[in-house]
Amino acid sequence: MKDPLLNHKHQQLREEVREFAEREIQPRAAELDEKSIFSTELTGQMFDMGLLRINLSEKYGGMGLDTLSYIIAVEELARVDGSQAATVAAHNSLGIAPIANYGTEAQKEHFLPMLTTGKKLWAFGLTEPNAGSDSNNTETTATPEDGKWVINGGKIYITNISSVMSGGITVQAVTGERSSGMKELSVILVDRDTPGYKTEIIQSKMMWRGADTGRVSFTNVKVPQENLLGGRGMGSKIMLATLDGGRLSIAAMGLGLAQGAYEMAMQYATDRVQFRKPIRSFQINSFKLADMATKIELARNLLYKACWLKDQKLPFGKEAAMAKLYTSEMAREVVNQSLQIHGAHGLMKENPIERFYRDQRILEIGEGTSEILRLVIARHLGIR
Ligand SMILES: Cc1cc2nc3c(=O)[nH]c(=O)nc-3n(C[C@H](O)[C@H](O)[C@H](O)COP(=O)(O)OP(=O)(O)OC[C@H]3O[C@@H](n4cnc5c(N)ncnc54)[C@H](O)[C@@H]3O)c2cc1C
Repeated sequence: MKDPLLNHKHQQLREEVREFAEREIQPRAAELDEKSIFSTELTGQMFDMGLLRINLSEKYGGMGLDTLSYIIAVEELARVDGSQAATVAAHNSLGIAPIANYGTEAQKEHFLPMLTTGKKLWAFGLTEPNAGSDSNNTETTATPEDGKWVINGGKIYITNISSVMSGGITVQAVTGERSSGMKELSVILVDRDTPGYKTEIIQSKMMWRGADTGRVSFTNVKVPQENLLGGRGMGSKIMLATLDGGRLSIAAMGLGLAQGAYEMAMQYATDRVQFRKPIRSFQINSFKLADMATKIELARNLLYKACWLKDQKLPFGKEAAMAKLYTSEMAREVVNQSLQIHGAHGLMKENPIERFYRDQRILEIGEGTSEILRLVIARHLGIR
């Protein structure tokens, strides 16, 4: 698939990632999903390809590619398997980005080599049992003591936290109280080898069963005060700005998933004969395919524009929220129609569309639910 708006390097990257995904991931995706296995081997291969440092500057060991390149890579992974796309998206957008964007030189030099050539994944710790959409309700605390932060509490539903490849986490914690009475929230980098740091995998998931999702708890975890990211009290600012970037990658997952579901529908509707005709020749099915292709094209244009804005260093938060909202809901419609075209065959585990149908569902919840995204967009429109 050639896109006339992409340059040669983008096209080449798309072809490379597609070839890798079809050769290495596609044959294993069903088994990893069925057995709920996070593959260190595939993750290692994705590290080797540069996909887990794609958007980071070369100065810090990254590939130095633009946002669009990163998004194309995630799109191509999600076209085949949402789990591998999730591992890559979470590490780049939520793991590396806040350190690259807000870290001091010393923090970048200490942490980024581990997350690039060191092949360790880094997690993003915002969500807690009582702080989901309402992330200002964070209960994890970090108290300054003898030149250290002493952290107590825990995070839940965290991507890339519990496998052997996880290196640690960026944590939002309460570090005090503002004069307004509101919690003072700050962000701290925590290495997994610190005593009192404990993780646990969450196995029984509906979707992304080949990705690592888990819980982490902190019991008197002591990290140096220099591990504070940005300034004290900058927690919400850093975490919410990080989510703006993250939403582009969730949108890319929706786009790739929809593209894969559409291609499966087209193939099945061509091969399946009923009433002596391929089912795609029934007008209702051809219109479904036409609607899918149109919605995918629209989503791609919206997402690529948001990437372009980010690369131009222009504000992109509104467009990222729109792209994430539209693409995740579009992916639901496309995967649903694709499954319908597959008939009973689409409901069977042996058919990847069944996995795609489950993997889509997280996209309307993670990194801002559709309800919260509508709030975010309304605020960008000046509605309070
Ligand atoms: C597989 C997976 C991976 C994840 N990875 C990470 C990660 O790496 N790091 C991380 O920090 N988190 C992660 N999350 C958590 C995810 O970001 C949260 O689930 C999400 O932010 C929503 O929070 P919640 O589930 O607590 O829902 P809640 O906030 O409890 O919302 C429940 C419902 O209420 C609605 N609602 C809430 N507030 C409002 C409101 N003001 N107006 C209207 N409706 C509202 C929501 O839209 C939703 O429909 C992950 C989750 C999953 C499932």
